[in-house]
Order: sequence, then structure tokens, then C-alpha cells
Amino acid sequence: MSIPDSSSHDAATRAQIISQALPYIRRLSGQTIVIKYGGAAMTDEKLKAAVMGDIALLHYVGVKVVVVHGGGPEVSAMCKQVGIEPQFVLGMRVTDESTMRITEMVLGQIGKSIAHWLGTHGAPAVGLSGKDGNLLRATKFQGEADWGLVGEIEHVDARLLNSLARDGFVPVVTPVAPGADGQTYNVNADYAAGAIAGAIGAVKVLFLTDVAGVLRDVNDKGSLIPSLTVDEVEGLIADGTIAGGMIPKVRCCTHAVNKGVERAHIVDGREPHALLVELFSDNGCGTMITQ
Ligand code: ADP
Ligand code: MG
Repeated sequence: MSIPDSSSHDAATRAQIISQALPYIRRLSGQTIVIKYGGAAMTDEKLKAAVMGDIALLHYVGVKVVVVHGGGPEVSAMCKQVGIEPQFVLGMRVTDESTMRITEMVLGQIGKSIAHWLGTHGAPAVGLSGKDGNLLRATKFQGEADWGLVGEIEHVDARLLNSLARDGFVPVVTPVAPGADGQTYNVNADYAAGAIAGAIGAVKVLFLTDVAGVLRDVNDKGSLIPSLTVDEVEGLIADGTIAGGMIPKVRCCTHAVNKGVERAHIVDGREPHALLVELFSDNGCGTMITQ
């Protein structure tokens, strides 16, 4: 029986597409990248499976991936279930002691299940928090208000991440960090990803989020800014173009880039395989931030 033309053509096209990834794989193999995983890509089953598959693929072509995950909505949902009404000041969660305990439990569980899903997709992974192996140390976040046990990262000790990567494990980091004062702090996952990327010498840090990237007008999907320099970012915050949850994201990008990460990318996690599009094509997607 002969194979129909269309399917042989499909197979050839598929082979061609795979072979076009070779230059990107050669460049990235052996390098470290950090992925901030959150939003729809973490809650939608299909998107989740696609991200797990993409990370497994990166793992198999020799890219050392570190995952840092979010989970704010899941923390809020659990707080409500146990009768704590989540409080926000200037867009940021106020973390009292009971909220911190719930945060650590909920985020820890999310980290472990991401590690499990990655394992079932063929990338053996380990869920850990900033408390493991002295990975993170935080101090109380100082700002215009008092957010309680919200921390900012003071120090990253990357030895555990390096050991895991060397032995072929994908670390999945839960953004909870101890302070020298004995407290446990809730750290914004974007900040954790940026700080870790800077500390481990990652070549790239990618933030999966629920928008196309940095937009010139939040209400206009077509106004995507494909690339920005560190200097341009502060201007866009000052003039109000970048606001809300996008501020920590771009600040983490500039922090990472200032620490030597070549490129930081904010990509649309609602698009299946956004990671592969960004990493394995010239045009990429989302917003890229460089020096
Ligand atoms: P994540 O859950 O991925 O951390 P956030 O909600 O914290 O996402 O941050 C992304 C949000 O930032 C967007 O959904 C949007 O509402 C807001 N935002 C503010 N300014 C901009 C901008 N210029 N471009 C894109 N998003 C922006
Ligand atoms: Mg956010």
C-alpha cells in the first residue's frame, strides 16, 4: 500500500520544521534559562500540558531549566475557604501570619504538583522553596505601605539549583523565603525569578503571563511593544504606560539584565507553545528586554 502524497508531504514538512530548530538548540544547549510560570498557562489543562511538554523538550535538548511558579489566585481561593478575606493594598496582597501559613501550604503544593507533571512528561523535577539549601533569604519589603510578611530577596545561594541541574533534575521553585529574623516571607514570584536568573548566570528569563507582552495601550491588543531597553522601561513606568502587575515583571527583567542575563522576555502564556515560539524562532513573541 502506498502512502498518500499529502501525508508524506506532511512528514517532510514536519522534519523540515524540526531541523530548523537546530541553530537555536545549538545556541541554548548546556545553557540555563529561568521560566516564571503562572496565569492561564498554569490553570488551563491544555495549556498546562503544552508547557510541561515544552519544558521536557528543552530538558531533552540539554537546556537547564529552572521553573519559578506563582499562584496568587489559588492562595486567595484557599484564604476564602477558611474564612480569611484577602486584603490588598496598592494592588499587593497583605500577608499576615495566617495568610503566610496558607500561602506556604498552597504554593508548596502547587510546586510539588508541577514537579510531578514535569516528571510524567519525562523531565524529572524537584519542588523546593527558598528555605531549601539556603536558596533564598528575604527581608521585609519596605514601601509606601505595610504589607506584613511580604519579602524582598536579599540573597540567592544557587548551589542547590546547580547541583540539581548537573544531575539532570529540573528545579521548581516556590517563592517563599526565610528571613534572618526567623520569619517566613511571601515573595512575588516575578522578583524571585529575576533574582534567581541573575544569580545563576541564566542566558534568558521568560515570564509567562496572561497578556501578549508589554502593551503601549493595555486595552489595545495590537499595541504590543516587541522590544525595550532597560532605560526605556523606567520611562514607560514614569509616564504610566506600564502599571499594576506589569511593573514588578518589567523591573525583574531589568534587574536580571543588569545582572548579566542576556535577554528577558514577557510572553503570552495563553498561546500554546509560547516558550518554543520564543526560544526556537528568530521573530520570537511577546516583549524582549535587553541592555
Ligand atoms: P501575572 O499573574 O502573570 O504576574 P499580573 O496580573 O501580575 O500577571 O500582571 C500583568 C497585568 O499587568 C496585565 O494583565 C495588565 O492588566 C497589567 N498591565 C499594566 N500595564 C500594562 C502594559 N503596559 N502592558 C501589559 N499589561 C499591563
Ligand atoms: Mg503578578
